[in-house]
Amino acid sequence: MNCNEFRECVCEIVDKRLTEERTNELLQHADVCPHCRYEFQSMQAAKNIVQTKVKRQNVPADVYYSIINATLKSDNTSWFKKLFGININPAIAVVLLAIICVGIYSVFIPQNNGMSDEANIISQSLKNYQAVIGGSIKPQLVSTEDEVHLFLEKDVSFEVNVPKMKGCSSCAGVLNSFKGVKLAHVVYQLGDKSIIYIYQADLDEAMSGNIIGLPDEAKDELKKTDWYVRELDGNKTIVMWRYKNTLCSAVSEMKKDEMIALLTDKE
Ligand SMILES: [Zn+2]
Repeated sequence: MNCNEFRECVCEIVDKRLTEERTNELLQHADVCPHCRYEFQSMQAAKNIVQTKVKRQNVPADVYYSIINATLKSDNTSWFKKLFGININPAIAVVLLAIICVGIYSVFIPQNNGMSDEANIISQSLKNYQAVIGGSIKPQLVSTEDEVHLFLEKDVSFEVNVPKMKGCSSCAGVLNSFKGVKLAHVVYQLGDKSIIYIYQADLDEAMSGNIIGLPDEAKDELKKTDWYVRELDGNKTIVMWRYKNTLCSAVSEMKKDEMIALLTDKE
C-alpha cells in the first residue's frame, strides 16, 4: 500500500463503498501515514458538512453509468483493482458494479438542485426512445420528412428539425407537452431494425432548467461546442445538438460515429 493508492480510494472509504476488509487495509495505512490520515479526516469532515447542510438528489441510472464510464475510460489502471484491491474477471466486475449501484447512488449535484429526473432531457429522451421501441408512444403522423416537418412546426414556436436521413424507410412525428412546455418528436425507421428518435424543445427553455433541463456537464458542452455526445449503458447513444433556437436530442442503439454521420449528412 502506498500513498497514491490510498489517495485514489479515500472518497470510497468516506462513502463506505468498500468491503470491510479493503477498508481496514486502507485505514491501516492511514494509521501509520500522517499525511494520508489528515487527508482522510478532512474529507470525512467535509462529507459531514455536506450531509447536514445540503439536500441530496437522485441521479438517473443512465447518467450515473455515463459518469462511471467516462471516469473508467480516462484511466488505464483497473478501477476495480483500485477500489477493491483485487483483480477480477471483467464480466463479474460488471455484475458487481451493477449490484453496488442499486439503491446506493444518490449523488450530490449542487447545481442541479430542484431538477428532477423527470425533468431531465437526457432521461426524457431515453425513456421516450424506449417507449417508441415498446410501442407505447404512437406516431401521430407517418409520412415523408417534409410532411412530418409541416405537421410538427404548426404547433411549436421553435424551428423543428426533420433532416432527411439516408436509408430511412419511414418517418413519424409526435407532438406533446411536458408541464406546458411544447415538445416535438421525430422517429426514423432505418432499414429493418434501427430506429433513431429525436426529441426537440426550445433551446432557451432547455437551458433555463425551469421546467425541463440538462445536467451542467451537458449544458457546458452544448454552450461551448453546440454538441453533446455520450454512449450510455444498454448500447444506447445520445447525441444532442443545437439547431437554430432548438435543442435536438437523438437516441439510438448505433455507435456514436455512425449516428453523428447520419445526423450530419446533408443530402
Ligand atoms: Zn500515505
